[in-house]
Amino acid sequence: MEAVAAVLKEPSGPFSIETVEVAAPKAGEVLVDIKAVGICHTDIAAATGAFGNPFPVVLGHEGAGVVEAVGEGVTNVRPGDKVLLTFNSCGECKRCKSNDPAYCLQFFPMNFGCVHSDGTNRLSKDGATVHDNFFGQSSFAAKAVANSRNVLKVADDADLATLAPLGCGIQTGAGGVMRSLSAKQGESLVVIGGGAVGLSAVMGGKIAGCDPIILIEPQVARREEGLALGATHAIDPIAQANTAEAVRAIVPEGVDMVVDTSGYLPAVEQAVNMVCTLGRIGLIGVPGSLDAALPVPLVQFITMGGTVRGIIEGDSDITGFLPELIAHHAAGRLPVDQIITRYPFSEINQAIEDGHHGKCIKAVLTFD
Ligand SMILES: [Zn+2]
Ligand SMILES: [Zn+2]
Repeated sequence: MEAVAAVLKEPSGPFSIETVEVAAPKAGEVLVDIKAVGICHTDIAAATGAFGNPFPVVLGHEGAGVVEAVGEGVTNVRPGDKVLLTFNSCGECKRCKSNDPAYCLQFFPMNFGCVHSDGTNRLSKDGATVHDNFFGQSSFAAKAVANSRNVLKVADDADLATLAPLGCGIQTGAGGVMRSLSAKQGESLVVIGGGAVGLSAVMGGKIAGCDPIILIEPQVARREEGLALGATHAIDPIAQANTAEAVRAIVPEGVDMVVDTSGYLPAVEQAVNMVCTLGRIGLIGVPGSLDAALPVPLVQFITMGGTVRGIIEGDSDITGFLPELIAHHAAGRLPVDQIITRYPFSEINQAIEDGHHGKCIKAVLTFD
């Protein structure tokens, strides 16, 4: 069958809206009629070829839609089900078996390889391969062939455009605080960066009962959004360049947790001076350089019992944390609607441009 897709023909090229041919799902695969898809920073990084992914390719990894067909052996969803898509994992390695799919030993090939497990692709254009299965979905398209392991059935009345970004950006920020750093009631939290992931970390901190929640973000509109979503304080790092000092003016002994969503090294470096004894620093934002390093003062960190850890997808999992987040949203505790701007799918390039200029926080493309 045919479907429209945003095809990226070469690294850093524009997304070109084209009609592609979509093959039927094979064993273990799920054909999804995509209704909405969020744009995540990882799409933009992958569009440059930074992850070594092949071209031409269809990206997109915050998809949501309706199941159209299932391949042999798929039992968790059936045609007509509304589904949310998330990252892919193998289901067989030691990390998948311990229910840590974000740290699947096959995470990189399964999410960035842009090929299905049998080594072939489901999309083509004029007989030539168009790479798909990015994050197990390639949902910048009206139809995506996902995998049973990365589709979750949601309620029939679910608003797919609102839930779509839960599959990556929202679970990464909220889970980074709630799961990866195991935030507890009353603990103090600093969030560096007020984009979609950072603001989700703020929302996650509020759900966990953190207090204070301090957001460090240079754009005034995003600081205000952070305060509206549960931050108790907001620091402008342009006005107060020594952010560690600014944090200690609020919490003199230092905070329990810092989560960085900026990947901006000068901002991250200050985190080591923000934390109290037993302080935990979580790193989510990916720096622009593979060689980026964080100097950790060893004696200080040993004596204070400090932790620095990396975070992928907020340690989320599709059967546990993702449904938990959907329930938090339904109960009004995860007001993601406030950070979403909807665009028609055909305006994908404009949506990315607006994101670059801070005109939107989380763009969601819709197909209706
Ligand atoms: Zn695995
Ligand atoms: Zn993402």
